[in-house]
Formats: sequence, C-alpha cells, structure tokens
Amino acid sequence: MNVHMKKSASHRRRTKIIATLGPATDDLRVLEGLIRAGVDVFRLNMSHGDAADQEKRAAQVRQAARNLRWQVALLVDLQGPKIRVEHFEKGSVRLDEGGHFTLDSDDVSTPGDDRRVGVSYAGLPNDVKPGDVLLLDDGLISMQVQSIEGGRIHCLVENGGILSDRKGLNLQGGGLSISGLADQDLPHIELAARMGADYVAVSFVSCADDIVRARELLRKAGSNAALVAKIERMEAIDKLEEICDVTDAIMVARGDLGVEIGDEELPGLQKWIIRTALKHNRIVSTATQMMQSMIENPIPTRAEVLDVANAVLDGTDAVMLSAETAIGKHPVKVIEAMNRICLGAERHFEREGDVKHLNVRFERIDQAIAMAAMFMATNVSVQAIVALTESGSTAQWLSRVQSSVPIYAFSTNKASRRRMAMFRDVFPVKQDSESDDSDVIVAEAIGTLLAHGAVSEDDRIIVTMGDRMAESGGTNTLRFIKLDADGRARYGV
Ligand code: PGA
Ligand code: MN
Repeated sequence: MNVHMKKSASHRRRTKIIATLGPATDDLRVLEGLIRAGVDVFRLNMSHGDAADQEKRAAQVRQAARNLRWQVALLVDLQGPKIRVEHFEKGSVRLDEGGHFTLDSDDVSTPGDDRRVGVSYAGLPNDVKPGDVLLLDDGLISMQVQSIEGGRIHCLVENGGILSDRKGLNLQGGGLSISGLADQDLPHIELAARMGADYVAVSFVSCADDIVRARELLRKAGSNAALVAKIERMEAIDKLEEICDVTDAIMVARGDLGVEIGDEELPGLQKWIIRTALKHNRIVSTATQMMQSMIENPIPTRAEVLDVANAVLDGTDAVMLSAETAIGKHPVKVIEAMNRICLGAERHFEREGDVKHLNVRFERIDQAIAMAAMFMATNVSVQAIVALTESGSTAQWLSRVQSSVPIYAFSTNKASRRRMAMFRDVFPVKQDSESDDSDVIVAEAIGTLLAHGAVSEDDRIIVTMGDRMAESGGTNTLRFIKLDADGRARYGV
C-alpha cells in the first residue's frame, strides 16, 4: 500500500507527480527520498544518455519502489522526430540580431560556424517558405527565412544568442511534415519493452496513426505499456479528438507547444486539452517548466506555485517535472513543494456532479457501473470508493468524473497497479486475498483500509466489482456498505 494512504484524508494528495530521471537522481537514496516525498511516476527521457544508462536508471527505480513497497510507474519518453541543428566546430556560436545564417540540409557533416550549420532533416526546405519564422533552442533564438536554395535555407537572425550543438528547431505556427516516430525511436521501443515500461510517450505526435503505429511496434516487442500522446505541435491540436480515440493518455507538452503556437495560446489550450482528454476518458498530464526556478533555488516562485495549482484546478491527472529533478540542485525539495501546492489547490477544487459525464450513452457495462457509482457517490455522501479491478479500467472510468471521493483500486495485477499510479483520485492497492469468495475479498479490502486509516467507523463506502472475480473487464456489480461503530461492514444503509 502506498504511504500517502496512511495519512489522514486531508493529507492525501489526489493529483499525481511525474519526475524525470537524470544525473541528479542516479542514487538509490535520492530515489527513495523522491518516492517518500510523493513521486508516483518516473520518466526516462530517451533524448539523453545511452541504452546502458537507461537500463540502469530503470532498474534503480524498480529497486527503490520495491524497497519502499510502493506502486510507482515507469514512463519511457521517446525522442521522436525533434529537428535539431548538428554540431558546431567549436561547440557553439554567437548569432547577432540582423546577421545572416544558413540552415544546410545539403551538407550535414561539415561542422557549423557563425554562418551556417547542418540540419539532418532533408524535408525541411520543402516545409518552409520565405517569411516563415524558425525558432531555435526552445524559442530563445529566432530567424526569418529569406530564401531557399536547394537544401539550404538562408535566414535573417531576428533574436540573437548563443546557439550550441544539437539544439532543437521549430517552425512558428507548426507545419513541419516529419512523422511522429523517428528511426532512433525503434530501438528505444524495444528497450522500453525490455525495461518493462508502464507507459511509453510518443513525442511530436501529428495524427492518430502515429499512436497506432507505436502501439503495434510495442506489442510486437512484447510490451503491454500504455501510450501517451505528447501534444506539442499544431497538427495534433487539430486532430486531438482522433488522437484521444486511440491513445491511453495525453500530455500537454508545453515546451515545444509554446514555441510552435506562441505562448499566449498556451493557457487556453491547456484547459481545452485537459477537458477534451477527460471527456474521452483519457489520462492527462501537464508538463514543462512547472517549477523551473527550482533547478537552482530551494523555493518556487509565486508564478510557479500558481501554475501548478492552476493545472490541478484545470483537472490534470498529473503534473510533471523535467530538468527540476533530472539535473536540479534540489530534487527532493521540488517534490515536497509540488506535493504541498497540489494539496492546497485540491482543497479548492469542486467539480461535484459532473452531469455531462453522467448523461452519455455507455458502451460497456463496467463504464456504466463506474458512472452509476459516481452518481451515487455525489448524491449520497460516501467517504470512499473501493474498486476491485483486474485491468484498472473501472478505476479509470471512475476517476474521469472528478469528485472529492478517493478511489481505492485493489488489483492482483502488478502492471495494472503501476498504471493506475498516474490516475488522479486513484490509490492502487495490492489485492492478495487467497479467497475467491467476493464477500471475503471485500471484507479483507475494507480491513486493509481500516488498518491504514483510509476509512473509519461509520463511513459509507461504494464497492464496484465483478461477480466473477479475477476476470478482466468483468465489473458488473455495485455495492453500498455502511461500516458500523466497530468498523464491521453492513450492507445497505
Ligand atoms: P520534452 O517534451 O521535454 O521531451 O521536449 C515536453 C515538452 O515539449 O513540453
Ligand atoms: Mn517536447
């Protein structure tokens, strides 16, 4: 059982925290500290390090989680077709405003200087036209396309700065036609399968097919990981509904998205993406620069506090940290601060009786049961929902109707428990009952919750389960239980 369950209800955080691994977390004790402070999901960024580094990091996460007996998910984030400049002769150059600079896809191998640099994406000259603005290094440097000559794109520098090796390149307004999976992602998909990833994130998704293809490759590699579609380019915004139809989860990848669409669009889009994902019963996370100043500082800025809190109020399942934990000076303090901010924001989160959700036509019985449970939970005061779930899908349906009632999801399946670590309001618990009698299993589950102080005497609880236990997707039953003064279960009121 996860440690936050032991705390009193008022200290139980419902929003989940994703922390990126890196040099600052390459120590078992730091990892354990991060888990204790509240990390639910660790992210392995495949843009950095080699296979040996990645495997070591993944193994260490599993070790730390085992040591603490905690349900922690591993998210492998594929590099995707991020377009980057190649290397410079001296590692970096200084570009001045008003100067001329050429992006050269004809000659990729000659090291760059202050007049040109190679870009290995051969399609770039076809994707841009004079007048377009190219943004480098997350938008720090910008240049306008003047002319295109074969594979060479001549630009005028608008905002100068230091440009160094392998920095990213985006087109303002989006429209680069490169597909959502890159050559280097294929070995990484196999690596993710080998490491037993719980989630695999696809970067720069442009359409639903990118996710379908990634899923096929993952399944072929023997992985059952859930897929996260990173929404970070314009094209994905236009196709969000179709992408939601085929993916398991969505990420608001604000870093690249902000560069492509302009930062003034980000707040509105973040809210819309989260709303759309929830409507489609998808898990959604919010990423990038949430606590950026804490890479250096021991406390967040007020703006960062408000940003994290607003994502919670928008209804995100999880908030994500990148460099703050991967290379930051205070990885554990960042998680502590984020934990505190989420808890504070959750106290002001009210979305009781999300009737829109309750009026849809259900395609599946487990979905119908989940929605009936939420309807009841918001109309009859209950203190907890217990979901006995094999695949975790009932817990996912339950958690899409965000209420103030915690969902304790008991599963015998380890992979399901880890996956549920990213679901808002859901607390995964190991179901290790020897019995196949549903009354005994329910009584044991309630006993576990009582022992950890997650429920107490006189509480009212809703249980969802299948009448044929241990069958995946078999939830067809809803029970209402009132605990008596001794904590014993009475059925009915
Ligand atoms: P990245 O994705 O950190 O892999 O670039 C997140 C983002 O773009 O916000
Ligand atoms: Mn990105």
